[in-house]
Amino acid sequence: MKRIFYILPMLFLISLMSAASGISLEKSLDTIIRVAIIDDRDSIYLSLKGRYKIYAINSDRVLMEGPFFSAIVKATKDGLQIEKRDIKVYGVKVKVARDSNIYVDSRRFRGDIDIMRKENGKLMVINYVELDDYLYGVLYHEVSHRWPMEVLKAQAIAARTFALYQARQSKFQPYDLRSDIYSQVYGGRTSEKWATTRAVNLTKDKVLSFDGDIIPAYYHATCAGYTEDASNLWNIDLAPLKGVECNFCKNSKHYKWAKDIPLWELENKLKDKGYKIGKISSTTVMSKNRSGRVDKLQIKDDAEISVILTGKDFRQIIGPNEIRSTKFDASIKWEHLTLDGFGWGHGVGMCQWGAYGMARRGKKCEEILKYYYPGTEITTIDKVASKL
Ligand SMILES: [Zn+2]
Repeated sequence: MKRIFYILPMLFLISLMSAASGISLEKSLDTIIRVAIIDDRDSIYLSLKGRYKIYAINSDRVLMEGPFFSAIVKATKDGLQIEKRDIKVYGVKVKVARDSNIYVDSRRFRGDIDIMRKENGKLMVINYVELDDYLYGVLYHEVSHRWPMEVLKAQAIAARTFALYQARQSKFQPYDLRSDIYSQVYGGRTSEKWATTRAVNLTKDKVLSFDGDIIPAYYHATCAGYTEDASNLWNIDLAPLKGVECNFCKNSKHYKWAKDIPLWELENKLKDKGYKIGKISSTTVMSKNRSGRVDKLQIKDDAEISVILTGKDFRQIIGPNEIRSTKFDASIKWEHLTLDGFGWGHGVGMCQWGAYGMARRGKKCEEILKYYYPGTEITTIDKVASKL
């Protein structure tokens, strides 16, 4: 990864530059992760507490600087409006001194941010944050900070590995990760807690590797019995992500769920996606994969026209928050599709509630990770740096 390691002369140059600018750039010397924290918005509320500089993007032209700032930033027809001043730029970079703070809509962030006007005239905000600073803001959302330290450490290593993997995959994209459930949920500095921060610090530089390279260390809330083979969902065929039996998440509050969907709603959602279907008369789970998740689902209308969907597509069409997993049985009752389901999430990699169950039984971080990602090693970033 090009952003990863700088050599000593560069370090010297940067320290000279920071002394001259009055803003420390020391934070650029680690692995930087780019997180999209805002997307497709007309305006944001930006507040800077401490010394700051605002640059035109990809230039060293300083547009504004000072000790304090708070204003609405809007997208305009040909640039941005900041503090009621129209600026013809497609974006700005906001840099603050290390002891200063950036607030975007009252959420506090470490690192720097870019505010960009997209082609559709909406704003995107990208947070440039050091890898571990990013993890501080992720862990709180992913696991309870009251859980045992061994599961928090396992989560820190999985999240660090996942972030590095995503960063490598996104090298030519405008950002590496989103701050919502489609990547890892990230709340910035506002979301940091003592225990989760400690777990990140105790596992500093540790990542999961297989065959000398990092793995896409997916994880999810609750598998409900068996984790999923990643190749059933994505183009990922890796021995550590083939699925394992899990008897540790039985106490998860997400182990069982039920969902009723009115048939008219299901019909509308299918039609919105371009499927030609009339009044639904039956649904049949045609096949399940080894982990018990729905492989193929057939939906028939009263004219015997049928649509066959994969479990993954079905969950996407209805909404991943509406249907917690693809591990379900389906039946039609009273003009409703009734789903009796198990677990929460895609099911690949570490089962978080299972990891919690293992830690409660005295298992260590390493044992938890090696259980859910069989064949992997815990190594340090420098050992895999050539691949990043
Ligand atoms: Zn489980």
